[in-house]
Amino acid sequence: MTTQTPALLIDDASRHYAGTPAPAVDGVTIDVAAGEFLALLGPSGCGKSTLLRMVAGFERLDGGRITVGGRTLSGPATHVPPEERRIGLVFQSYALWPHMTVAGNVAYPLETARVPRAEREQRVRAALDTVGLSGFDARHPAELSGGQRQRVALARCLVMSPELVLLDEPLANLDVHLRAAMEEEFADFHTKTGATMVYVTHDQAEAMALATRIAVLDHGRLAQVAAPRTLYREPATRMVAGFVGQGAVVDGVVTGPAADGRVRVRLFGAEALVRCRTGQPEGQALVCLRPEDLEPAPDGPIAATVVRAAYKGGFVLVEAEPQAAPGVRLLLRVSGDAQVAPGEALRLAVRDGWVVPEGPSQERLTPARE
Ligand code: ADP
Repeated sequence: MTTQTPALLIDDASRHYAGTPAPAVDGVTIDVAAGEFLALLGPSGCGKSTLLRMVAGFERLDGGRITVGGRTLSGPATHVPPEERRIGLVFQSYALWPHMTVAGNVAYPLETARVPRAEREQRVRAALDTVGLSGFDARHPAELSGGQRQRVALARCLVMSPELVLLDEPLANLDVHLRAAMEEEFADFHTKTGATMVYVTHDQAEAMALATRIAVLDHGRLAQVAAPRTLYREPATRMVAGFVGQGAVVDGVVTGPAADGRVRVRLFGAEALVRCRTGQPEGQALVCLRPEDLEPAPDGPIAATVVRAAYKGGFVLVEAEPQAAPGVRLLLRVSGDAQVAPGEALRLAVRDGWVVPEGPSQERLTPARE
């Protein structure tokens, strides 16, 4: 049997900084296929940058192995230095040389690699063309916008035709409008180059927009790695359910199977049908309810009170408290024409939901974030 070698394999990798109570990266295994765009997502301090630096070679492993294209770069007896890894790096600080022109900055790694002048010029032109900066060759970084500087950094990385490109929060320094535009550029850049990319971000919307798969880290451990849709619809843990997308994770009781592969659950004294993994046992369970899973309905079985209503343009985002569960907040969207005010009574129907497989017994693994 032949299996395709992953472009990048992170195999049970760990890193524990001296003097810290817990490992920053703790037994993480992820394989990334050639041409894939993987986002590493998680809250600040979950170990994303450490993991990226381990792949880049700036950080040694305390356990496990990292291979790129089948070649071990980090392992028990191996540590290939960063400059020999043929990995492209793009960081939030663009690290451009201010005294060099755009073309000079992009050509710099080729000069270091002693690429002949004619080929160098041709590759610089192609790289600048890919990032939409043809004609900017003679400018200096100070004469460019933040987004343009980031594109120069991309071109400089691209010009070396790296097997793998690592990006660490490359949009973090840009304003909101520019971020949206640059998201599209990154997606284009990925399509045009076909390069394998690993992209660190704490912004779930950015990860959703860009990645083919997202790996969510939680306290140094891999909580789940899946396509954006799966992550949203079938979160594996309470932490993933809360971090990716909006909604609520609530306590329920699975009472038995339903005809369509879903299960019956008791939620706030009412019965609902929700999706689950196969073999979901009966009993206490955590249920993830996204805003679109809930609907106001005159005969809905759940009595609730509106706590907050915010007009979002086209719809109103409503936060509601079930009368049977004070303190719990459900989120739902109602039509933009509806007049909804805090304090109003509301009846809700549950149209769908997902039993979080982690289950209530493992809650202690991911303490609720304040
Ligand atoms: P993220 O990129 O997700 O914000 P980091 O990888 O930067 O997370 O950090 C993970 C954990 O490791 C944090 O608790 C952080 O404080 C710690 N850490 C990061 N770098 C160092 C270091 N050089 N020395 C000691 N602890 C570090």
